Amino acid sequence: METRIQLRTPHDDVEAPVIVNDFTWRRGGNFRMEAGPSRHVPGNMDEFLVTTNRGESSAPGVYKPFEEPDLMLDFAKLKTASDVLQFANKFGELGFDNETWRLQYRHLYGPESVMEWLSEAAGVRHVLSIWELIEGNDTAALRRIFQWDGDAVLANLGHGHRVLVANWHHNTEWLPRMKKGDVLTPAKLYLAFQINYRLKGAADVGIRLDSVRKFRPISRPVNLLRGIWIMVSETATGIRKVRPCEKCRELMDVTTHRSHKQMHSRCSLRERMRKYRGKQK
Ligand SMILES: [Zn+2]
Repeated sequence: METRIQLRTPHDDVEAPVIVNDFTWRRGGNFRMEAGPSRHVPGNMDEFLVTTNRGESSAPGVYKPFEEPDLMLDFAKLKTASDVLQFANKFGELGFDNETWRLQYRHLYGPESVMEWLSEAAGVRHVLSIWELIEGNDTAALRRIFQWDGDAVLANLGHGHRVLVANWHHNTEWLPRMKKGDVLTPAKLYLAFQINYRLKGAADVGIRLDSVRKFRPISRPVNLLRGIWIMVSETATGIRKVRPCEKCRELMDVTTHRSHKQMHSRCSLRERMRKYRGKQK
């Protein structure tokens, strides 16, 4: 496996100071997959995203991830290496190289691994699924996950994996405010924790001089992955409008739609075709 491939760092060469919504990212890497030994599980194989574009000769496109309505939800759907490749060719790398914890180990890391991508996608998928249950007030489903044990409440994530939500050491101030058996509040506490955990170090916040030497605020996601988590947080707070399609029940991001979009365009077309065919008979 070639490890000398230079990964671009989109973060470094964007000159203008920006706020979150102006966040720009690079795409057009022309990626392909290359198999190689896993960095996480010794003896296992993994696949890696490598780009054939090198140096300045290539002209990757710059775009605004926060204005891409399908980006967050598409990312949450990634389940295979070919899904990852398709997403990367559409939206670019996740930008692990810009993660603070990784900067000092940069020499140890090469191209982005499919295993890491899929684990991040599963995290977004999980958090959005909990959010959806909260939004839909699905207490029956939430009750299967959030379980009270004496004065403590835990999230049971299956396979024996349980996460503490509140007890006399953690989220204690919420205990007297919850009735025993309440699952909605624990679900919200859990959701907030999961999102905040991913938002640590997610953005650079500060001020910079612009071209006429005026101070301008910057608040920019460090990479595409953290940008996606900021979009998840916007979904939870309602800044981003996400709702299930009335036809297929899959989530859709309608933030950029002025009208009250009720279903995917593809679902509404299918519905009209069905009605039309019905009339023909
Ligand atoms: Zn639909």
